[in-house]
Amino acid sequence: MLIFRTKKELSIFLEKEANKTIGFVPTMGALHEGHLSLIRKAKETYDICVASIFVNPTQFNNQKDLETYPRDEKQDIYLLEKEGCDCLFLPSVEEIYGKEFPPKEKYNFGLIGEVMEGEKRPGHFDGVAQVVKRLFLLVNPTGAFFGEKDYQQIAIILAMIKQEGLSLNIHPVPIIRELSGLAMSSRNQRLTEETKKSAPMIFKTLQESLTMDKKHFTPIDISQWVTEKLNSIPHLNVEYYTLVNAETMETISSWDDCAKIIGCIACYCGEVRLIDNIHY
Ligand code: AMP
Repeated sequence: MLIFRTKKELSIFLEKEANKTIGFVPTMGALHEGHLSLIRKAKETYDICVASIFVNPTQFNNQKDLETYPRDEKQDIYLLEKEGCDCLFLPSVEEIYGKEFPPKEKYNFGLIGEVMEGEKRPGHFDGVAQVVKRLFLLVNPTGAFFGEKDYQQIAIILAMIKQEGLSLNIHPVPIIRELSGLAMSSRNQRLTEETKKSAPMIFKTLQESLTMDKKHFTPIDISQWVTEKLNSIPHLNVEYYTLVNAETMETISSWDDCAKIIGCIACYCGEVRLIDNIHY
């Protein structure tokens, strides 16, 4: 696997590969099976696979979260090599943003950027769009792969490429889970022995809510039930649980509101903020 830390080295490599299709997997590192499933899909779909690892400071609205974000470059390189990734881009903050940091551009994604993660993490999606746009312009991929764990993020990326007039395929990839059902996340490394016991209850409770009779419970009832149940479990504290139209991210109040409904959750487990989602 070729490893580049500068835009210049990366573009020299990409120029040589200009006749090949490129599958791109942007990540923040501390890689796990979720990330590796994106790498596998990229390899299956395109001629070469380019991954990036960049802990993007502009998408962290909480300084402590940025400082404690897990990093393990050596292990990440080992895992990507093993998976047969062709190229890894490992830029510094200056390499991505240049001298003008933080970058100034702001986005307006309408409702999809204002609810859930957009509401609870002000500036987060501007940061995501700022970095993903720069990476797309550098790598110029044929397609890019994103995990459905960050469901709302995929809607933001689709809106960003439309606004920026970029042309590439976006491939959503299903959530990879631990055996316990807990959605894999780099932040799971920060769970303690104690909080680790509570974390799987998040997905278990979402699954249980699928079995509730839709004739008797409205989407709002279900979101309240999930929130109350999780808040009664030690270490868990729900920030939001919302059932939304899976296309528009609009909160739904009746089961007939739309064809595709997704429940999205953000829940603190001790000090660690976890997100997950489930289709109804
Ligand atoms: P991150 O390093 O957390 O920014 O994630 C990089 C990419 O991996 C994003 O597209 C995530 O949605 C995706 N990802 C993270 N966790 C999982 C998971 N458990 N299953 C599938 N994709 C994931």
